[in-house]
Amino acid sequence: MLTLRSPREIEKMRRPGQLVREAHDRVRGLVRPGVTTRELDQVVEDLFAEHNAEPLFKGYPGVTPFPAVTCISVNEEVVHGIPGDRVLKSGDIVSVDTGCRIDGWCGDAAVTHAVGEISEQAQALLDATSGVLDIAIEAMVECEKWSQVARRMQDFIQATDFSIVRNFVGHGIGKEMHESPQVPNYYSREFEEEDDFPLRPGIVLAIEPMINTGTHETRCLDDHWTIVTDDGGLSAHFEHTVALTANGPERLTGRM
Ligand code: MG
Repeated sequence: MLTLRSPREIEKMRRPGQLVREAHDRVRGLVRPGVTTRELDQVVEDLFAEHNAEPLFKGYPGVTPFPAVTCISVNEEVVHGIPGDRVLKSGDIVSVDTGCRIDGWCGDAAVTHAVGEISEQAQALLDATSGVLDIAIEAMVECEKWSQVARRMQDFIQATDFSIVRNFVGHGIGKEMHESPQVPNYYSREFEEEDDFPLRPGIVLAIEPMINTGTHETRCLDDHWTIVTDDGGLSAHFEHTVALTANGPERLTGRM
């Protein structure tokens, strides 16, 4: 099922998208050694409340409902980390993911930040992950279907020492945060044959590559939420909500 949004609907999705962007800007201003992940979550919770925006992550159903408005995942944590008392230290990388709904429309984005001075390898991982997201968004102009975009993402990461997480993928987004289709960050023939979709104006996707320094395999911690790399290697995550318009792809959660 492919839902295409009208220009008017996409216009409405800019508001939640831009509030999510502002949330990430505020977090960026706070990330430093000594800050706790709970403090980062609190600034986003306050911002959403100020704007009467509905947080999409808090209460998200699972074995236990997700308890915060952001997912904050440090170092070997891939996604879905729970904010808390953890104090960030120099050398950490911290992925922050959040989303909100305004007037019935959703926005969702993630950024991985460097805390203080990070290793060359960690910086290369951040660059590769934000780079592969840029490649995917730009490829939406030329590619006719998502599998072609996914192939370009895979080619880009295969030229590095890193690996692409397969257990988690991007998604359609609109009135709900998670809508069809599924948006993988790697190529597979199975996807191309069974789940591929055409890139038509009106499609709105949350594109979110997760890239690891070691194995692409992941596992879930006992808290039922936090996903970590199986080998303890670092992981980074960048995400934008992107609308494909008649004028090309537009990052609804990006700088306008
Ligand atoms: Mg997402």
